[in-house]
Amino acid sequence: MSSVLRIALVYPDLLGTYGDRGNALVLEHRARARGIEATIVEVPAGTPLPDSCDIYLLGGGEDAPQVAAAEGLRASRAALTRALDGGAALLAVCAGFQLIGHHYAAAGGRSMEGLALVDLHTVPGPDRIIGEVLVEPDPSTGLPTITGFENHGGRTHLGPGERPLGRVRRGGGNGDGSDGVLHGGIVGTYLHGPVLPRNPALADHLLAHVTGTALGPLDEPVVDRYRAERLSFATLTGSARRRAERRLHRG
Ligand code: GLN
Repeated sequence: MSSVLRIALVYPDLLGTYGDRGNALVLEHRARARGIEATIVEVPAGTPLPDSCDIYLLGGGEDAPQVAAAEGLRASRAALTRALDGGAALLAVCAGFQLIGHHYAAAGGRSMEGLALVDLHTVPGPDRIIGEVLVEPDPSTGLPTITGFENHGGRTHLGPGERPLGRVRRGGGNGDGSDGVLHGGIVGTYLHGPVLPRNPALADHLLAHVTGTALGPLDEPVVDRYRAERLSFATLTGSARRRAERRLHRG
């Protein structure tokens, strides 16, 4: 890492559903709060990816933007691989997660080539999986329960040598009881929310990977309250859930 941590927000004009840009803001904020200078490098669609960033963020996208993003990303695969080989991290959410695999099902079920950074592939599911998700992360990460929101049609299969980010306690994730992937500096997940504002420990996990140091805790009560509210909401059912939804809409 150079003296300034560079966070690449990749194709926010194509891959940015459900406020995935918030992931970049949280990484920038949590780095600066530890005295690490950080900057967000926006990479609009049609622009080659730089190989000089420390953390790359691929967000979610609807089917047509996802196809457009795949073409550009394939052209920049070498730059991304150089950065990852040099110790960079990558957070890939939903469409972005599907794109880091060998192939995925695009609109109409047509199979499209991905980046093949990780041994996984995505096929169309019988329906869309929509709603709140709770994931119990792989114990090796030391991370607490991950909360998020998902909306996707694809089902993702990991190759035998790959391990998921965690096990799904609520929701669908990859579609087989697991969610996402952990592969070196790469974290893939189906979770929006966006995922890092809801799960600051996951943001610190990425920051620790690229800085090479464990980061101390940050005292941010508003983040703790938000997280606690989302964790409990995901476990509510029936009338308790409807009451909580009404409270949410009243603000
Ligand atoms: N288009 C993809 C799917 O439906 C990804 C959706 C998303 O990123 N939210 O599976």
